[in-house]
Amino acid sequence: MSYQIAIDGPAGAGKSTVARKVAQKRGYIYVDTGAMYRAMALFLLNQGVKPGDTAAIEEKCVEADISIRYEDGEQVVLLNGENVNGLIRTEEVGNMASRHTSPNPRVRERLTALQKELASTNDVVMDGRDIGTCVLPDADVKVYLTASAKVRAARRCEELRAKGEECDLSKIEEDIIIRDRQDMNREIAPLKQAEDAVLIDSSHMDIEEVVQAILNLCKEGVQ
Ligand code: C5P
Repeated sequence: MSYQIAIDGPAGAGKSTVARKVAQKRGYIYVDTGAMYRAMALFLLNQGVKPGDTAAIEEKCVEADISIRYEDGEQVVLLNGENVNGLIRTEEVGNMASRHTSPNPRVRERLTALQKELASTNDVVMDGRDIGTCVLPDADVKVYLTASAKVRAARRCEELRAKGEECDLSKIEEDIIIRDRQDMNREIAPLKQAEDAVLIDSSHMDIEEVVQAILNLCKEGVQ
C-alpha cells in the first residue's frame, strides 16, 4: 500500500511550499492538483471556450490529455504532451481554473481519476482543496492548512514585491476572500476540512514549523 499525505486548505496558506518540503523529507512524490486544474483551464482558454459556457467546457474537457512527470524532483504538467508549467501561473488562467473549470463535474471526474491513480502507485504528498474529503478519503495523514486572510494577503504581497512587482494589499486580501468563497461554496467537492483532518493554522508559524508538525503527524500515525 502506498503512503498518502493529504494537505488541503485555501489559496495562499502555503500548501505547495510545505507539501514540497514534506515530500522531499519523506522521499515521496509531490502532486500539486491545482496545477492540473490550471492546465485544464489553459486548454479551454486555448480552445476559445468562453468562461461561462458550461456546455463547451463539458464538450472540450474530454480532449485534454493531462499528465504529470518529474524532472529533478519537480512536477512537470503535460497538456497533450507539452510542458505547460510556464503558462499556468497567470491571473487569467487562475481565474478560469477557479471560477469556471474546477466547479465542473466532468472536469473533476477526469482529474480526480488521474489523482487517485497517482496515489495508488506512489507514496504521495498531495495538495488541493478536496484531497482529504474526496480524492484520498483513506489518506494516512490529513491536514487542513489555513491562515487568516490578512496574513495570506501579506505573504502574497511580499512575494510580489520580492519579484519587483507592485501590490495593493487590500485588493489582494479582497481577491483572497472571493477565491475562498468560490472554493468553499461550490456544489461539488467544496473546500472544507475533512472530519479526520488535523487543523494547522500557520498565521503565526513559519514554514519549517509547519513542515515539522506534519512530519510529527506521520510519526504518530495520526489518521
Ligand atoms: O491551488 P491553485 O490555486 O493552483 O488551484 C487553482 C484552482 O483550482 C483553485 O482556486 C481551485 O478552484 C481549484 N482546485 C480544486 N481542487 C483541487 C485543487 C485546485 O478545485 N484539488
